[in-house]
Amino acid sequence: MKPELKELKLLKKEYGDVKYYLDFKTPFQLLVGVILSAQCTDEVANRVLQELFKKYKTPKDFAAMPLSKLENLIKSTGFYKNKAKGIKNASKMLIEKFHGKVPDNMEDLLKLPSIGRKSANVILQNAFNKVEGIVVDTHVVRLSRRLGWSSSPNADKIEQDLIKVFPRKEWLHLPHLLKAHGKKVCTSKPKCDVCVLSSLCPKLI
Ligand code: SF4
Repeated sequence: MKPELKELKLLKKEYGDVKYYLDFKTPFQLLVGVILSAQCTDEVANRVLQELFKKYKTPKDFAAMPLSKLENLIKSTGFYKNKAKGIKNASKMLIEKFHGKVPDNMEDLLKLPSIGRKSANVILQNAFNKVEGIVVDTHVVRLSRRLGWSSSPNADKIEQDLIKVFPRKEWLHLPHLLKAHGKKVCTSKPKCDVCVLSSLCPKLI
């Protein structure tokens, strides 16, 4: 068995069936959630997202809301000015180009303001059950490099390196497992002495 697959097996044993962390009811709520969650803890992003959608639910609601009001509502997620602009501009584009619906394909998702490949993968996987790539967030970047799975600092290149190594059936859960491990053990100051991967990991820190 490839060392990467052995490491994946150990992570599965350690963390089990880790789920995606944002709670959402519609693809649009997920889209807003992924914008809010940038540079923000899962807990805060989720709390603000739930509060926001008690009153506002559709791209029309967000496109019509004054920018300053939206900024205030999402302030605690940080970088709120850019995020508010992103949410409003994406809402407007959904109305103008996509009949008010979140597209279910990579090409169109990437046309939306504030949506890059990572966010598009998150939306496709979690809202539409389409696994076309691997979500590469900061945890996946850090751990992939430390584990020697990729030597690139570039998220798109790392995604391609991981796609070559891991079978498609693992693409959805791999980032969830790496995030769980990255938050608990392989943090910015890694706890290699208690890590389940220690005997296999080259520790390229
Ligand atoms: S051995 Fe250290 S560097 Fe490697 S995955 Fe574990 S904590 Fe991270």
